[in-house]
Amino acid sequence: MSSADTIVAIATAPGLAGIGVVRVSGPEAGRIGEHLLGQRPRPRHAHYCGFHDAAGELIDRGILLYFPGRGSYTGEPVLELQGHGNPLLLDQVLQRCLQLGARWARPGEFTERAFLNGKLDLAQAEAVADLIAARSQSAARAALRTLEGDFSDQVQGVFGALVEARVHIEAAIDFPEEEIDFLADPAIAARLSALHDQVGQLLAASRRGRRLSDSGRVALIGRPNQGKSSLLNALAGSDRAIVTATAGTTRDVLRESISLDGYSLELADTAGLRDSEDVIEREGMARASRERAIADIVVLVTDAAHAEADLALFEGTDPAAARIVVINKIDLSGLPARSDVFGDARRVWLSARSGEGMVLLQQMLKDLASAQAGDGDYSARRRHVLALETVLSHVEAAQTMVRVERSGELAAEELRAAQQILGEVTGEYHSDDLLGAIFGSFCIGK
Ligand code: GDP
Ligand code: ZN
Repeated sequence: MSSADTIVAIATAPGLAGIGVVRVSGPEAGRIGEHLLGQRPRPRHAHYCGFHDAAGELIDRGILLYFPGRGSYTGEPVLELQGHGNPLLLDQVLQRCLQLGARWARPGEFTERAFLNGKLDLAQAEAVADLIAARSQSAARAALRTLEGDFSDQVQGVFGALVEARVHIEAAIDFPEEEIDFLADPAIAARLSALHDQVGQLLAASRRGRRLSDSGRVALIGRPNQGKSSLLNALAGSDRAIVTATAGTTRDVLRESISLDGYSLELADTAGLRDSEDVIEREGMARASRERAIADIVVLVTDAAHAEADLALFEGTDPAAARIVVINKIDLSGLPARSDVFGDARRVWLSARSGEGMVLLQQMLKDLASAQAGDGDYSARRRHVLALETVLSHVEAAQTMVRVERSGELAAEELRAAQQILGEVTGEYHSDDLLGAIFGSFCIGK
């Protein structure tokens, strides 16, 4: 696939620097280079030249590089203009490229083209963003391994095993009189169980890897009126959540992203957990329990009188998630701000209203975020984890179809579904929405 239009962006970070790079990609890159240089640029040759504006006025002097085709980052003609790292100069160079027929690049559009031109698969393209955003050496190493294709190789390995198992089963479906015996053959069960293990291992690796690249998820849970929204606001320093004295006002899930010492956390304020007849509120509570199940850190907001009984609200959280019990409203109870460890949870006494004790909670969140951002072989995304979870459940369903239902047809159906989902990880199957969501979060110029 080749693009019809040519894109341009400043590829280096805004601000003053030694050098700055303007990057052009698309069919017109060579012609634009020729205009700027005054002659056809030699492929992969560093031309030292002046960059002039439309009136012939010198804007800057720097290096012009031209990559004619497949070998470039995007897999299409690329022009790189390296000038002095002053945004004013770079902007004029960019303007000149626009005049010569390029258009502004969207965020991540260079990498999106690399994907569409088959230079990278989708997981590798995501690793480009993760490498740029890595906050630790281990995160950078993991992103690089994914970018190098290690994660994709594992996915391809599972993909191959899936296809083999499906073909094996489908071959038997064509002979109904033998299907029952065939499905009872322990070799089939063994093959599916090996596949299950393989998916399980990749899922575990992705779960570790995803903590390196994604922000940690924090769910605020608790009965209505305990101060979840107030706490969210206190942590985020804004007034986003509606804080009222009427129980049950936080009906939807409100999100806020915060950064603590470079660790980004996504806070979700869930609807109050309680029995309700109200349909909208019930839907809110269903979302709340989903948030609780996927959170990396679950924060139960309660008060001194109910702390003990409210521990039951942790039910349904991921066993691997960290648990924090916030005993709020100490400005009313008069208890001192403090924190301790309580069984497998941590406790902190604070007031979301007065702010007393908030630093203790922030420190706790920071410690947990840094511990959870631990190690991983690959960088992986939440979407990879979700996909692999779905693949695993399809494989499990296929096992049931073989063992219990003795239906090769249905087992093959499950494996086909698993194959489809797995193909989305590397982008074998993809929708425009998925690409938009992935590349839209990139920076411009990448
Ligand atoms: P949510 O339903 O759990 O989200 O609770 P809200 O954040 O909406 O708070 C419910 C009520 O408790 C509001 O009137 C808040 O102003 C009040 N509140 C929250 N935190 C504190 C606190 O630390 N001290 C006091 N005195 N009131 C609080
Ligand atoms: Zn609320």
